[in-house]
Amino acid sequence: MSTEMNEPVPRPGILDIAAYVPGKEHAPGVARVYKLSSNETPLGPSPKALEAFRNAASQLERYPDGQAMELREAIAATYGLNAANILCGNGSDELLGLLCHTYLGAGDEAIITEHGFLVYKIQIKAAGATPVTVKEQDARVDVDAILAAVTPKTKMVFIANPGNPTGTYVPVTEIRRLQAALPGHVILVLDAAYAEYVKRNDYEAGVELVSGSRNVVMTRTFSKVHGLAALRIGWVYAPAAIIDALNRVRGPFNLNAPAIAAGAAAIRDQAFMANAVAFNAEWIEKLTHAFEGLGLKVTPSVTNFVLIHFPDVDGKRAADADEFLTQRGYILRAVRAYGFQNSLRMSVGPEEANTGVIEALREFLA
Ligand code: PMP
Repeated sequence: MSTEMNEPVPRPGILDIAAYVPGKEHAPGVARVYKLSSNETPLGPSPKALEAFRNAASQLERYPDGQAMELREAIAATYGLNAANILCGNGSDELLGLLCHTYLGAGDEAIITEHGFLVYKIQIKAAGATPVTVKEQDARVDVDAILAAVTPKTKMVFIANPGNPTGTYVPVTEIRRLQAALPGHVILVLDAAYAEYVKRNDYEAGVELVSGSRNVVMTRTFSKVHGLAALRIGWVYAPAAIIDALNRVRGPFNLNAPAIAAGAAAIRDQAFMANAVAFNAEWIEKLTHAFEGLGLKVTPSVTNFVLIHFPDVDGKRAADADEFLTQRGYILRAVRAYGFQNSLRMSVGPEEANTGVIEALREFLA
C-alpha cells in the first residue's frame, strides 16, 4: 500500500499554496526598531477605542454578539449605509476567504492582477478554484486586461483599490466600465483597505457601485487608519443576497467582543481619523519628494505606503538597501513575491522614522 493511503491528504491544490509571509518585525542587534513593513499606522488607535477595549475586559466569560450589531450600526451610521448590508469579519482577510469559499469551487476561475494582494491567490486556491493573473500597466490595474481574461469559468474578480504594494488606484469611471462589462454572475470584489487615505476626486471606494448593483462587494478594514490591526476587524458591504450566503458560512462568533466594542468607538471618532489622514498625507508627499530627490523612482501613492524602486547597480539594489536599513533599525518590506524584484515598500511611520529612512538612504546611495 502506498503511503498516501495511510495518511491524511489535503484536497488537490492545497499544497501548491505558498503560505502568506507577514512583514518582518525584527532587526537583530539593533536597539531601536521601526517596523515600516506592514502598513500599520504610527498614531495607534483612538483613545476612545482603547477605553472601549479595556471596558470589554470585564466580561470575557460571555460570548460576543454574533451579529456584531454595535459595530455594524456604527459603520452604517458613519457611511450612511443599511446595517443589513454589512457583515463584519476577523480582519478583511477572513472576508476575502469567506467570499472564495462561498462562491468558488473546482473548475471555477477568479481573476487577480499582476501585483495584487497575495491573500486573493491563497484563498482562491484554498477554495479549489484557479487564479488567473492579468498584467498591470506600470503598476496600475488594467481594466481591459481583466476583461480580456474573462471566460465562461470566471466567477470572481479581485481588485485592491488602492493597490498594495503599488499604492496606485483605479478611477471610478474605470471601475464602472469594468462592472458594466462583466457578466452579472461574476462578483467584482473591491478591496478598499486603504480607502480612507485617498484624496482624489475621481476615486470611490465602492459604496455607490455596491448599492446600485447585485454583483459588486466592497471590503474594508480597521487595521490601517483606525490602528486596530491587532484586533482583526474587517467589514464587507454587499447586496443582501451575498450577505445572506456569507452569513451561512461564517463562524457564528467571528468577531470577538473587545474588537466589536473598540471598532465601534474607533469609527465614531472621526476627528481622530481625520488627524491620522492629514498626518499621512503630509508624509506621503514628503517621502515621495525626498526619495525622488535622491534619484530613486517612486510609484505615486494615494495610500499610507510608498513603493520605492532601486537602481540595477551592484551594491545599490533593493536587497542591499533592505540590509543597510535593517542594520539601522528601519524595517521595510521586500516585495519580490508581489512581482517587484528590485523595490521596497515603506509604510509611513512616526516622524523620526521617516526622516531617519531618508537620511539612511542618502547615505546608502552616496
Ligand atoms: N487587503 C489589502 C490590500 C491589504 O493590504 C490588507 C492588509 N495587509 C488586507 C486586505 C487585510 O487587512 P486585514 O485582514 O488586516 O483587515
